[in-house]
Amino acid sequence: MEKLELPVPVAVFCRDLLRWYQRHRRDLPWRRRLEPYPVLLAEVMLQQTQVKTVVPYYRRFLKRYPTLEDLAESDEDEVLALWSGLGYYSRARNLRRAARQICDRHGGEFPRTYEEMIRLPGVGRYTAGAVLSIACGQPLPVLDGNIRRLFARYLKMDGVSSGDDSPPLWDLLTRISRFAAAREEVSDLNQALMELGALVCTPRSPSCGRCPLEGSCLGLQAGVQEKLPLPRARRAVRRLSYAVAVIRHRDRYLLGRNRESEFLKGMWEFPRIPVKVGERNLGAKTLEEAFRCQLGLSLSIDGLLKPVRHQITYRRLTLHPAVATLRTAAPPAGLVWTDPGTDRSYPIPAYVTKIAKLYRRTQGRI
Ligand code: SF4
Repeated sequence: MEKLELPVPVAVFCRDLLRWYQRHRRDLPWRRRLEPYPVLLAEVMLQQTQVKTVVPYYRRFLKRYPTLEDLAESDEDEVLALWSGLGYYSRARNLRRAARQICDRHGGEFPRTYEEMIRLPGVGRYTAGAVLSIACGQPLPVLDGNIRRLFARYLKMDGVSSGDDSPPLWDLLTRISRFAAAREEVSDLNQALMELGALVCTPRSPSCGRCPLEGSCLGLQAGVQEKLPLPRARRAVRRLSYAVAVIRHRDRYLLGRNRESEFLKGMWEFPRIPVKVGERNLGAKTLEEAFRCQLGLSLSIDGLLKPVRHQITYRRLTLHPAVATLRTAAPPAGLVWTDPGTDRSYPIPAYVTKIAKLYRRTQGRI
């Protein structure tokens, strides 16, 4: 394994970075409470999600579950409902399971070793390092996509793609974090790296003129900062098409719990059936028959709204909303009437809200 070295002494690197961080860091809610539980919550929410999206969710979540014990005793549906719209719902389930595990196995005390942290559901190397270094000052590195990009440029790592899990980089970051921890600066240093990657060494057009590492950046010196890191190999997109039944009664819609495991498991959705990808001419009679056979729903289709596109990780969904009327007096077991705009007791995926809005806009014109 080829050992990576910084182009400047580690003390200079840390000093420049920390000075910049003290002056430019954002006042984010999770930076006001550097304790393991809020830091874990923030790190989990920030996975694949932008800061500005996370802030209101973080505040609501912490208000409802101010302590780890509160989360451990929570109802899963309520947790998912609070998470609704943030996506990647397995994060919420794992977080709740982690809280339960800490309360059951560690007497409610947050694990203070990396080996224990890594055994918690949904906690990987990055999250364990982030929580233990930021909240507990432990000498552990953090290496996420932002920091990987920053170092690929700073060290001019030509052979590294943005998705590589580079052992030499982990090793270098471990040495840096040990140095900073010995000076009780690892919490700020790791946050500084995250912040620099998010604000300055951005994916496109890095703002090198505002970067505290500008004077020693090897990528910038070679003029290749915008070409690094190499693009990662992307997972192939999977296209899926569904018809969804939009059945409304006053201000409420009929929703059912998704019990299939592939995606959105546990969420409450419009009744949904698969249709052929690319299908444009969905006939009302065919759909009525399909909803009856596949879901036992007796409907009459009143019209179709324009298709709605929605992406869930590598799955690209096309949803065909079919406005329908229930032919039976009461809905079949398992379906409930609810208003996805106001009722927070059911976890609802973002596409349901999207379609409900579309329906309200086009009401009476189908
Ligand atoms: S100088 Fe530019 S490329 Fe180098 S680390 Fe800073 S922002 Fe990134």
